Amino acid sequence: MTITAAGIGARRAMTERATLAPGRLSIPRVPALGSPLIWAGPALVALICCGAAVLGYITYAPYGSEAAFGIAVGAGAVVAMAQTLILASRPRLLEPLFGGLDRMYRAHKWLGISALVLMILHSQIEPDFERVVRETDLGELASEVGELAFNALLALIAVSWFRRLPFVGLEIPYQIWRFSHQFMGLLFAVIVFHQFFVDLPTGVDPSLSLLLNGFGLAGVVAWLHTEFLAPSLRRREFTVSAVTPHGDTTLVTLAPKGRAMRWRPGQFAFVRASEAGLSEPHPFTIASAPRADGSLSLWVRARGDWTRRLPGALRAGMGVQVEGPYGRFNFRKGGARQVWLAGGVGITPFVAWAESLTAADRQGIHLVYAVRTPEEAVGVETLAAAAARNPRFSYQVVASARDGRLTAEGLTQSAPFPLREADLWFCGPAGLKDGILAGLKAQGQSPRRVRFEHFEFA
Ligand SMILES: Cc1cc2nc3c(=O)[nH]c(=O)nc-3n(C[C@H](O)[C@H](O)[C@H](O)COP(=O)(O)OP(=O)(O)OC[C@H]3O[C@@H](n4cnc5c(N)ncnc54)[C@H](O)[C@@H]3O)c2cc1C
Repeated sequence: MTITAAGIGARRAMTERATLAPGRLSIPRVPALGSPLIWAGPALVALICCGAAVLGYITYAPYGSEAAFGIAVGAGAVVAMAQTLILASRPRLLEPLFGGLDRMYRAHKWLGISALVLMILHSQIEPDFERVVRETDLGELASEVGELAFNALLALIAVSWFRRLPFVGLEIPYQIWRFSHQFMGLLFAVIVFHQFFVDLPTGVDPSLSLLLNGFGLAGVVAWLHTEFLAPSLRRREFTVSAVTPHGDTTLVTLAPKGRAMRWRPGQFAFVRASEAGLSEPHPFTIASAPRADGSLSLWVRARGDWTRRLPGALRAGMGVQVEGPYGRFNFRKGGARQVWLAGGVGITPFVAWAESLTAADRQGIHLVYAVRTPEEAVGVETLAAAAARNPRFSYQVVASARDGRLTAEGLTQSAPFPLREADLWFCGPAGLKDGILAGLKAQGQSPRRVRFEHFEFA
């Protein structure tokens, strides 16, 4: 079977066909290949939750194991929820501990789910100190509002968790999901009020209360920062220089209005354009290497309401706000031999990497770019220029309509070195990645390391 129009640096023809099944995109967001640091964040947040629960149990053990367990799970819930809100504020300082913002969001999601389970347990084993405390009106109020907030929070967390309904394929629209999510912090503030004032026996060690009040406060401050401060603090103003449609994908070029943004190739940013009726910030990979004039390019594929509206609504001269950069995807920390595999618009980080390649980059790199039709391919000029600049970089465009389905065999034949000696960096539909990895394994060609992440924060 014939093969694809290979890019300038392509070394071998491919003998298989590629199809891009529509699916979720994945994007690598990893600090350094094999870096143990990326487990530090999840381990730390889990340890803090467990620590709070153990402290809760020890502190209230004299009141019986049931009461102590009730307090332990309640303490774990407060700390888990506080950390959920802290991570949602996108603290850049913590990003290295998680290996990127998307992993931080994943920890955020699992913390939220853990908080949900712990809260349910806490409500089931509600510790009863009636006989050992002097009840106050404030304590009574704290108990009642706590219950109210608990039920509302439970509903919100459940909505977030089941954003995509399993089996039926239904999805809550992002905007509705995001809107409901914004109230989490408010409800958490009520829970903090509950734990602050609810009647508890006097004379117990205050360490637990201090810990919970500290985390409670930090969670509320993080939420206030996310909702009210960050939007204006973190955004930079850009002007649209050009909007160029290319099939269902649009190239948007932006020029900084004031201070330029600094980013590393492979990072992404949140983009909004209120002037064009696109006020909800959406994440896009910066598909260009840092340039002297601070300009940057984005390739935006029409996928939903916002991205479909963009080509018609955005015009040269309009103002755009960009928040970022985020992400820790950096091929320069990978091995000496690398295969980059892109599916559809998943090419964007690779285009940025290719633009940044110089003759000084010593890695042997082969990129395979899978698209439906040759016309769909974007950024090919940048890839060609990179291959001309650096003889160790090669690429190949595989169009499924013309060349057929890309298989693991095709990929191994295309690469100028054995896949099992290379690192594989992937960005594209999850189905493409899974099929290729299974095929490579069957051939005994599993790459040394594989790096990919979901293209969405879930
Ligand atoms: C790190 C990252 C980098 C990305 N880079 C690119 C890129 O270079 N080019 C490209 O075309 N696409 C990219 N995307 C995908 C792009 O963000 C979505 O396709 C776009 O947000 C869809 O928005 P919509 O309203 O048009 O579609 P919808 O149908 O509303 O959303 C489709 C899906 O996109 C996600 N999404 C929607 N709105 C948001 C939002 N405000 N914030 C976060 N996620 C949202 C949700 O998971 C949703 O299920 C990237 C996504 C991520 C997470």
